[in-house]
Amino acid sequence: MHVVPKKPSTSWLVVAIIVVSAAIFGYFIHIIGSSLNSQYDSISQVDASTATIAETKIELADDAALYVPSPSLFVENAPWMYVRQSNPLSSTYTPQELVPLTVPTGYSDEPMQLRKDVLSRLRELFDAATTSGYELMVSSAYRSIEEQQSLYDEFVATRGEALASQYVLLPGASEHHTGYAVDLTDASAQCRVDIDQCNLSPATAEWIATHAPDYGFIVRYPSGKKDITGIAHEPWHLRYVGKVLARQLTDNDLTLDEFILLAAPGRAK
Ligand code: ZN
Repeated sequence: MHVVPKKPSTSWLVVAIIVVSAAIFGYFIHIIGSSLNSQYDSISQVDASTATIAETKIELADDAALYVPSPSLFVENAPWMYVRQSNPLSSTYTPQELVPLTVPTGYSDEPMQLRKDVLSRLRELFDAATTSGYELMVSSAYRSIEEQQSLYDEFVATRGEALASQYVLLPGASEHHTGYAVDLTDASAQCRVDIDQCNLSPATAEWIATHAPDYGFIVRYPSGKKDITGIAHEPWHLRYVGKVLARQLTDNDLTLDEFILLAAPGRAK
């Protein structure tokens, strides 16, 4: 009988190495923590003119820490790209690799789209939900800056600018422009024919909040964080940030805004 020696455990450290900009600069992201796996390999574009090798260490609970190159936080197309009212995208921004959704969606004139890698994770989340007895649907996915402009103009025309500024994000300021954000709802026949009839029950919202981080998504606007995010609790709005960051932010009760402030103090707007 042959005895195969066990390989030593490697759970103590995961290193993701991302080489960018035609080997001019290398960015290294080290993630130290328990049972982490790397989802940081999806940085696809880094502007060499702003790149440095400097890293920021972010202390988290339980002696865990994240090391991130702070300039990458502000680079378009990184999974943690930062978009909010005070930090809007340029009017010409278009995400990479958008693909039509292959999960159930509510009513839509045109096929809804997300980034290809995000859709893979979303499919896994939907499968896990089904296994747990929850049927999900997407009520909103990628939205172009032009679409947001139409939404905004329509709102202003019917309900006035004051209300619009409260309820509709300015074109460029919505995370839906990135292809990394998705709104979820309980699956229903009504939602399939009328997007206004879509509804996310508290029980499903709770399941999503618990399990979405395992697939790289965070509840981007949690309750009790409006002063920080600028947006009231939206249990349906998920943002893809990658598995490691999603788990760390969720376990440490941090919003993406707080993470940006920790990782790149002085640079967040
Ligand atoms: Zn949303």
